[in-house]
Amino acid sequence: MSRCPVCGKTIKWEDLIEQMLIVDNFRELLKDKSVFLSALEEFVFKCPECSEEFYGRNLNLKEAEKVFELLNEFNGSIDYDNGKVRLKLTNLLALDLMLEEWDKRVKGAR
Ligand SMILES: [Zn+2]
Repeated sequence: MSRCPVCGKTIKWEDLIEQMLIVDNFRELLKDKSVFLSALEEFVFKCPECSEEFYGRNLNLKEAEKVFELLNEFNGSIDYDNGKVRLKLTNLLALDLMLEEWDKRVKGAR
């Protein structure tokens, strides 16, 4: 779950990535995970709840890595013309975590 470091409210990853779409070479960022992550860390996000600004390095970077993978995995995940993220990233991350947990439990039960 990504949270605003100022007010603690949950912010959807799709909203965060939409803010980043203003970066000129955003498409290029998606070609290299380390480039993407360092751009995200340096990016100044604005919380939709309290309007405070914060650096991306305050976000959960493990989730950011998964977001990178999800965006690359699905063709057309981003609608560049309208500046929209089509994927429900937050839901996909939750599902991913759930499957991981389930996998651990199944393996642990053996
Ligand atoms: Zn906030």
